[in-house]
Amino acid sequence: MYKAASERYGKMKYRRCGRSGLKLSAVSLGLWHNFGSSGSYDNMVNMITSAFDLGITHFDLANNYGPYPGSAEENFGRIMSSVMRPYRDELIISTKAGYGMWEGPYGDHGSRKYLIASCDQSLKRTGLEYFDIFYHHRPDPETPMEETAAALSYIVNSGKALYIGVSNYSPEQTLEMSQLLRGMGTPLVIHQPKYNMLDRHIENGLQTVLEHEGIGSIAFCPLAQGLLTDKYLNGIPKGSRAESSAFLTPDAVKNTDLSKIAALNAIAKKRGQTLAQMALSWALRGGRLTSVLIGASRPSQIAENVNALSAPELTAEELAEIDAVLCK
Ligand code: NDP
Repeated sequence: MYKAASERYGKMKYRRCGRSGLKLSAVSLGLWHNFGSSGSYDNMVNMITSAFDLGITHFDLANNYGPYPGSAEENFGRIMSSVMRPYRDELIISTKAGYGMWEGPYGDHGSRKYLIASCDQSLKRTGLEYFDIFYHHRPDPETPMEETAAALSYIVNSGKALYIGVSNYSPEQTLEMSQLLRGMGTPLVIHQPKYNMLDRHIENGLQTVLEHEGIGSIAFCPLAQGLLTDKYLNGIPKGSRAESSAFLTPDAVKNTDLSKIAALNAIAKKRGQTLAQMALSWALRGGRLTSVLIGASRPSQIAENVNALSAPELTAEELAEIDAVLCK
């Protein structure tokens, strides 16, 4: 029987999500990879419990995480109903809908029909009574934004979720959704964009909107799926994501400028960090993000990544050195 570590809240930092009442662990764990039907269930349990022992309170799902789509929610539900059951009130569990999930015209995008049906399916698969955060996973160019906003607002008002988030929305779309939701009395609390040293697009407008609107942010792929670690510096290791996932192909590794990664690795070493840790310190610098949403294939990666929080802040000189490498 699992008993959570008594010191779990000692090391982690908790950051306020925008101007809401919600705080998130500075490091959160996503279940996109390694929690589907082909993963090892024991490894999943070990990852969730070791993350929680380290103070990670936020776990992120989506309707389509697998493979097969939905299986990550099922596996997480199994873990919740057994191992993690006593800790539900200490957890922030999110899911999303926005990508293709079932056949026909109602299984994708952002209609009221799709979002509410998908939320109900996710509740069934996880066995949860409610989600803490429900996200629209990507903007829908066809459905009126008012309809999507009203569906998200209904999901909160009906008790299926506590907070609303969006993901992959542009600055303009975020502002529009934020204004609509505020008008409905169910504010937009969080945005989930991609952000890492190799993809800084949110610095060009989105972060300004988020700060102005008081919306928190959680960065997905903060390690660029593993590219921002030392693991690909000498080829593609067995069992790595680039060897086994359609989302990070060997070509993507080949097309990455590994001399830049090696140079970043050297800066990290000078700081006494691994590159993975420095990539997380960098993303969290200056307090603009609420949390970094890491993935992992084993508990030791989670421990290494959470240790990024014990390092000193990056200095102006180190940040300039990193910028010089990235701009080369
Ligand atoms: P990361 O960029 O953190 O990549 C995680 C992968 O990097 C791990 O699976 C592991 O890969 C490798 N890794 C992690 N830590 C280390 C380490 N210390 N040393 C070496 N390798 C390491 O994040 P993800 O790409 O997994 O995305 C994180 C989460 O973001 C997802 O689970 C999901 O919740 C969310 N997400 C949201 C999206 C959206 O559209 N909203 C899109 C994509 C993700 P390996 O298997 O090689 O060991």
